[in-house]
Amino acid sequence: MRLTRGNVLILWLNARQKAEASRLLMTDQPFHLRTTAVHAGRRGLRGLVVHAPPIDLSTTYPLPDPHEAESILDDWAAGSRSAANPIYVRVFNPTVARFEEAIAALEGTTDAVAFASGMAALSAVLLATRERGGHVVAVRPLYGTSDHLLDSKLLGVDVSWAHPHDIASAIKTDTALIILETPQNPTLGLVDIAAVVGQAGMVSVLVDNTFATPVLQRPARLGASLVLHSATKFIGGHGDAVGGVVACGEDWARPLRQIRFATGGILHPFAAYLLHRSIPTLPLRVEAAQATAAEIANRLSRHPAVLRVLYPGFDSCFSDLRRNQMTGPGSLLTIDLGSAALARHFVTSVELALHAVSLGTFDTLVEVPSSLTHRIVDPAVLAGSGISDGLVRISIGLEAVEDLWSDFDQALAEDR
Ligand SMILES: *Cc1c(COP(=O)(O)O)cnc(C)c1O
Repeated sequence: MRLTRGNVLILWLNARQKAEASRLLMTDQPFHLRTTAVHAGRRGLRGLVVHAPPIDLSTTYPLPDPHEAESILDDWAAGSRSAANPIYVRVFNPTVARFEEAIAALEGTTDAVAFASGMAALSAVLLATRERGGHVVAVRPLYGTSDHLLDSKLLGVDVSWAHPHDIASAIKTDTALIILETPQNPTLGLVDIAAVVGQAGMVSVLVDNTFATPVLQRPARLGASLVLHSATKFIGGHGDAVGGVVACGEDWARPLRQIRFATGGILHPFAAYLLHRSIPTLPLRVEAAQATAAEIANRLSRHPAVLRVLYPGFDSCFSDLRRNQMTGPGSLLTIDLGSAALARHFVTSVELALHAVSLGTFDTLVEVPSSLTHRIVDPAVLAGSGISDGLVRISIGLEAVEDLWSDFDQALAEDR
């Protein structure tokens, strides 16, 4: 039994189910995002007479015809999205494929390639740039470990750091990729994606969309070639699964699958199941946390102990970018308390909120970037990006706004 290329799960479906599935889920479907979030990656479940997607934990697969196995393996080695047999867990997994299909549908790309973590996803992208020239232009600030991975030359990538307005002049003949994050971590400044794409010319642009999620921002629509997520954050949302994913077109997906196959940074099927399970509630979680964050940001901006509130809704670019780029400011905010001691006092005084790294979980997390998530970044770079010791990053969760406010207020008001 041969698969139609691109319809990976068709193997288990009959003709009527195939027709139903392709009606239900095409990448360029006409549904609203909430509907896509509910139904994406659920192809063929009715035909299987199940409601929850099956978790396939196979590490190997029966190969009835040895001759056919050879040509299937060749297909996979060439980076195909589908072939007649998964062969081996590092090559393909149907549970992971459902998650990838859902992310591609949400981001509006033809493909998505999932990895063991956000960093495994970024590593694969950086390896893929090597045969396209290997030079990368990146905009600071980035997630601390992303900055470190690029700056340390751990993967041998040649990087130039550039301001969003100077992208064009940083591009060289061997530039393969431009990397940016918006909203930025942890300063929450915004980068105009379309403006960077405009300067990039033929060079692909990667947007780390972890903070915004496809609910608030769909970079592929603005011309980005690659959209990266740490699915560990909002997409998973429950703090119990780690994963990364790159939404992109076939041109990048093929080498990414080849690299994943050869380097082994695969997403575990159980994690893929959990991440996929969280997608139907992603829009609701993002919108609810955002409403609370907007209120808390307003109140914090009037609090005498808070010097500054960094929040995309307060960014002078936000009203301009709101039309095309972001549908809302999200649920992350950063406050400036003026000193490392006051920042430390705040994160140890909160009782409802939790002092921890990560973000986008159902509960509120606080951390001091300069001493935790961005500790790995060169101090001069931190200073240049405005990441001072008094900053506290807050990822607002799903608690009631008044309970959170009481917690923050007591943590700020305590005798210091
Ligand atoms: C967490 C994070 C990453 C790295 O993802 P992991 O899943 O932790 O490997 C990359 N970018 C951003 C913006 C992140 O928040």
